[in-house]
Amino acid sequence: MASPAWHYVLKFIITGDAAVGKSSLLVRLTDQRFLANPDPTLGVEFGSKLLTLPGPEATVIKLQCWDTAGTESFRSITRSYYRGAAGCLLVYDVTSRRSFDNIRTWLEDVRTHADAHVSCILVGNKVDLCQGDDPKERAVPTELAEQFAAEEGLLFTEASARSGEGVEAAFTRAAQEVLAKV
Ligand code: GDP
Repeated sequence: MASPAWHYVLKFIITGDAAVGKSSLLVRLTDQRFLANPDPTLGVEFGSKLLTLPGPEATVIKLQCWDTAGTESFRSITRSYYRGAAGCLLVYDVTSRRSFDNIRTWLEDVRTHADAHVSCILVGNKVDLCQGDDPKERAVPTELAEQFAAEEGLLFTEASARSGEGVEAAFTRAAQEVLAKV
């Protein structure tokens, strides 16, 4: 018998302030590209991706990933968005302290509306801006985010939707944690 195309289907959601790069992370994951000037009114709502988890069993996950598609600024994210989510990316921008401080509110939302066992990974996006010849000042030290994640029981990584660094790894780590609980 042919092996199935995937072993598990997991719903993932991406939350965080407007403009931290949520849609860009989704597009990078599903389409391997980066748009420098995406239309902010045309948020990407949904993307699907097959991920093969590292390990001898080569488990294949079909990720069905939802983005807030621009509604985060109206705080109109509804319960149905969170319902059934196995994984959640909580995204901030490493050059915006405010976006990091607001993670507390996003986490409260997730804890209020999502299933209790949802696996969350804190993602510091746009690290590319702090690298290279003319780096922009970092507003959120890695250690600070690491400590917050440890206190709140979140996974943590930094990433760049622009370069692709850390993006697939972020989704993969959260998916691994989901499966570890099955
Ligand atoms: P969203 O509102 O959270 O979905 O954010 P978007 O994905 O629309 O991104 C907001 C802006 O940040 C856009 O101009 C993106 O091109 C830019 N952006 C997103 N991710 C990155 C990144 O990793 N590096 C850099 N330099 N810019 C990014």
